Amino acid sequence: MQLLDGKKLSAEIKNEISEEVKKMVLSGKRAPHLAAILVGNDGASQTYVSSKVKSCEEVGYKSTLIRLEKDITEHELLAQINTLNNDDSVDGFIVQLPLPKHIDEEKIILAIAPEKDVDGFHPMNVGRMTLNLPSYISATPKGILEMLNRYHIETEGKHCVVIGRSNIVGLPMSLLMQRRSKPGNCTVTICHSKTNDLAKYTLEADIIIAALGKPQFLTADMVKPGAVVIDVGITRVEDAGRKSGYRLFGDVDFDNVSKKCSYISPVPGGVGLMTVASLLQNTLSAAKEEFYSKNMSFDVGDL
Ligand code: NAD
Repeated sequence: MQLLDGKKLSAEIKNEISEEVKKMVLSGKRAPHLAAILVGNDGASQTYVSSKVKSCEEVGYKSTLIRLEKDITEHELLAQINTLNNDDSVDGFIVQLPLPKHIDEEKIILAIAPEKDVDGFHPMNVGRMTLNLPSYISATPKGILEMLNRYHIETEGKHCVVIGRSNIVGLPMSLLMQRRSKPGNCTVTICHSKTNDLAKYTLEADIIIAALGKPQFLTADMVKPGAVVIDVGITRVEDAGRKSGYRLFGDVDFDNVSKKCSYISPVPGGVGLMTVASLLQNTLSAAKEEFYSKNMSFDVGDL
């Protein structure tokens, strides 16, 4: 079994990005600038956002963290998005999800200008990705593609089972794995909470991508010998014995599945770090206007 080492790969990607930023700055351009909006003080969201901001510093980007109270109105948040959409000094920005219940996430995602949507959640980017057109690809699926690519894992003609169909992970992942591309060209099965006899599908899979958010859900008896297993899940489970007060679990029973598979990504140290690296790659693409030219017109509704 070989470990899919997200720590090593993300460091490699960050080095590549730093080199490019140095060249940009030497040629007289400004460094890429990522802004992040964090609403409220959810512990996990704060951790994710601070690791994104810290990573920006590591590669030489400018970053701006905008913290908003949890009771901010939807209208106020939309106004903040409008400001960032129109700020030429910001290349890309993210709104950390989940948002408080009184805010309509769909409306917020739609308000982000597609050319600054480095999370790749806007329907314009999702649609372009689906059609295999240049676009921002949502950071977690993009990170998984990088992982498969950099470990030279053959995907063509393989059967890939994706567990989970969320808009940010499972759905885009399943679309990307079937695309006429490398990595890609898989036969894909999407399993979800209404799938009957899920093990029937996972036992036939050459590649399993588990993204359901149920700690240690995928057990060794559900995996074919030699399969490639990618664990996307991150669940915090209380652990009084730890300084942080919690322990992170993936969706895979790592100890037992790792004895049976060919490759496996650990949690932590796997997909999570790749996600941050992919967000940095998307921000670089935004600064270089790789997919869209700046100042596209957009309409955020009646503010
Ligand atoms: P989500 O709750 O939006 O979606 C979960 C999906 O799993 C749903 O489509 C649901 O149908 C499916 N599901 C739930 N129970 C199931 C079951 N028993 N059998 C089969 N399918 C089932 O979650 P999400 O946002 O897609 O995130 C999934 C996990 O990945 C979470 O643990 C999350 O924290 C983690 N995550 C990690 C990263 C990262 O960077 N590593 C990024 C995003 C999400």
